[in-house]
Amino acid sequence: MTAIATLGSHCSLQVLKGAKDEGLKTILVCEKKREKLYKRFPFIDELIIVDSFKEVLDQKCQSILEENNAVLIPHGTLVAQMSSEEIESIKTPVFGNKWILRWESDREMKEKLMREAKLPMPEPVTEPSKIEKLVIVKRQGAAGGKGYFMAANEEDYNSKRNQLISEGIISKDETLYIQEYAAGVLAYLTFFYSPLREELEFFGVDQRHESDIEGLGRIPADQQLKSNKVPSFNVIGNSPLVLRESLLDEVYTMGENFVEAAKRVVAPGMNGPFCIEGVYDENAKFTSFEFSARIVAGSNIYMDGSPYYSLLFNETMSMGKRIAREIKTAAESGQIDKITT
Ligand code: ATP
Repeated sequence: MTAIATLGSHCSLQVLKGAKDEGLKTILVCEKKREKLYKRFPFIDELIIVDSFKEVLDQKCQSILEENNAVLIPHGTLVAQMSSEEIESIKTPVFGNKWILRWESDREMKEKLMREAKLPMPEPVTEPSKIEKLVIVKRQGAAGGKGYFMAANEEDYNSKRNQLISEGIISKDETLYIQEYAAGVLAYLTFFYSPLREELEFFGVDQRHESDIEGLGRIPADQQLKSNKVPSFNVIGNSPLVLRESLLDEVYTMGENFVEAAKRVVAPGMNGPFCIEGVYDENAKFTSFEFSARIVAGSNIYMDGSPYYSLLFNETMSMGKRIAREIKTAAESGQIDKITT
């Protein structure tokens, strides 16, 4: 029998609940400090208690996973807490494509893949002296928006960067990435590509709520002007969104272009869940500033199924359950190699 394993954080509850619903064994790699929390959920069959998630790389942990014939589901915590080399060295089969996670973490590779997929992107700004329009300044990797800031020109950039360094939020030698700010309605588009069916599914849309940039809108302008705090984009939670139906065709095209581009650039391609993240402007034109090449936490909104999946499946289907269904189907037909790396 196949088991599903993941790290205890991010979207692990949804992933393991989905696996249980599909009749698979569930294993959680759980930090000691979270043991009490995760023991509350009866659908988790086994906890592997660790001091740090990096122990998933250790022989002991890998042997338990191997004995259980486990498939590891990567999510944002794995990407945030481990280097690409560490992720690539995991011996347990990883659902989807572990090689593409490097393309998610490295800003230059990310841009290359997004261009290959013909996704409209905000222009990068190569150095602070070239800031002419409003920009957003980001840190490397999946920092979840923490320590990101906006700047209108070089002087503004320098003063905010210095302030964040003095507050210990970013470090002095950190390479920051500058990109034009795209204004509009945030939309995080989640898809699932099945290599077994060779089909792309559109799962749903969510919006992220980020602090304390969103809190700014609740403060009158005169108070905003008096504050010298640098607002951050630290993600706090997500809420659902549905799109105008007329936008759906383009959404599928973007998803398909991404899948095709990933196949060309990083074998075996973009298998499993992924998310294209961006904004719609006043002309309903989408600009994408980011992708995630694995399940995103925004899918937690739809643990009971998403509006778009209710059109495709005549049953409640979360992303966690969809992943488990793919693994179960692959295991039954001897095709686990096709859906893991
Ligand atoms: P994660 O890996 O957790 O998705 P990240 O650290 O890679 O996050 P981004 O998703 O690129 O960071 O950015 C974090 C947030 O900053 C976004 O959710 C969005 O609100 C805002 N943002 C990023 N880029 C832009 C942009 N070019 N224009 C407008 N807002 C942006």
